[in-house]
Amino acid sequence: MSLPQAAPPRPIPPFGDEHETLREAIRRFVANELRPHAQEWEDARWFPNTVFTRMAELGYLGLKYPEEYGGQGGDHVHDAVLAEELSRCGSGGLAAGIGAHIGIATPPIWKFGSDDQKRRFLAPAIGGEKIGALGISEPGAGSDVAGIRTLARRVEGGYLVNGSKTFITNGVRADFVVTAVKTTEEGGHQGLSFLLIEKGMEGFSVSKKLEKLGWHASDTAELAFQDVFVPEENLLGEENKGFYLIMANFQWERLAMALGAVGSMDAVLERTLAFAGERHAFGRPIAKHQAIRHKLAEMAVKLEASRSLTYHALRLFAGGQDALREVTEAKLLSQRSAYEVADEALQIHGGAGYMREYAIERVVRDTRLGPIGGGTDEVMREILGKQLGL
Ligand SMILES: Cc1cc2nc3c(=O)[nH]c(=O)nc-3n(C[C@H](O)[C@H](O)[C@H](O)COP(=O)(O)OP(=O)(O)OC[C@H]3O[C@@H](n4cnc5c(N)ncnc54)[C@H](O)[C@@H]3O)c2cc1C
Repeated sequence: MSLPQAAPPRPIPPFGDEHETLREAIRRFVANELRPHAQEWEDARWFPNTVFTRMAELGYLGLKYPEEYGGQGGDHVHDAVLAEELSRCGSGGLAAGIGAHIGIATPPIWKFGSDDQKRRFLAPAIGGEKIGALGISEPGAGSDVAGIRTLARRVEGGYLVNGSKTFITNGVRADFVVTAVKTTEEGGHQGLSFLLIEKGMEGFSVSKKLEKLGWHASDTAELAFQDVFVPEENLLGEENKGFYLIMANFQWERLAMALGAVGSMDAVLERTLAFAGERHAFGRPIAKHQAIRHKLAEMAVKLEASRSLTYHALRLFAGGQDALREVTEAKLLSQRSAYEVADEALQIHGGAGYMREYAIERVVRDTRLGPIGGGTDEVMREILGKQLGL
């Protein structure tokens, strides 16, 4: 049985020929250097830091950053190619660890950091010498960011930080954590600031490496801060203006997650179409049974709807327009769709889908995080409700 075309012809704007050349190179890198290790790194609950150094060598950690800091001088559309293609590595945890470094930890330093901070943190992060994490969530506050309790008290020359963070991707390995703190206790949204907290600072420790349903290759940690002195020069952006930083960061994080979901669905559909064409039951390929054919059709619709919305949001975002509604819609639709597509793919694989060997069960476990991380589905709907004036 010949393989049907699952994907529309490329390039699809905002991507152009240059981006498709980059896509081919990244796809080759992912297929040759990441995917073969996916199972091993999932089992080890860790991927080696050499992944960062190798990606730095290839220029992939700094696609959107200026050459002045070691970047490639590209833009978000170049980074979008990477976000989409990384999901083909076959390990959500690996993609998440790299994604946290590139997509959420370094962007605020680029956008809000001083030149000194860019030289001390951004440049080595682009060079793969320092690994970053973003620490916002706490045991008592996730969706409700204003409710964080980690307190940074002003002292001579800097701040004294006390509190904890949880669910922090790259939390164990990070050389620096872009950390949300309260600088004004009663300030709510207006009392938030960001500090660059570095590995080795006295009183800063990893209190726990967390076990998870999926994303096994990534290290997700609980962090503790006990009278950690953070010098003034590590304040990122303005004091008490941290909420703007969070909001600015969310847009790209959510868009990158949507792109990852599109890449994941694309890969899963391609594999499932091939499987359904080869696997026979009752005298014909299972794809020739209407029930299976309809499942595949629905999966293709979910992929295409997510892709269209995500690329639309990306076009607006990359063009410098306000894309809050479109990014939120893309995040909401794509994350739930990626999980549903993975679950249907498992069903179509039958018993094989439940086995580790086919790696579909891992996609189901890994994609379950999408409707929770980077802002839950419920929070996305709240944002969209507000956009409707409700
Ligand atoms: C594997 C993993 C990696 C992560 N990585 C990071 C990271 O690197 N850095 C970081 O800072 N955080 C990280 N997170 C945290 C993540 O962003 C939060 O889990 C997420 O924002 C939800 O917060 P919460 O878990 O505290 O849930 P809660 O906010 O307690 O929500 C619990 C439930 O209540 C619902 N809810 C909350 N508010 C409302 C409302 N107003 N209306 C309706 N329903 C509501 C939620 O949607 C959810 O269903 C990670 C999480 C996981 C699981």
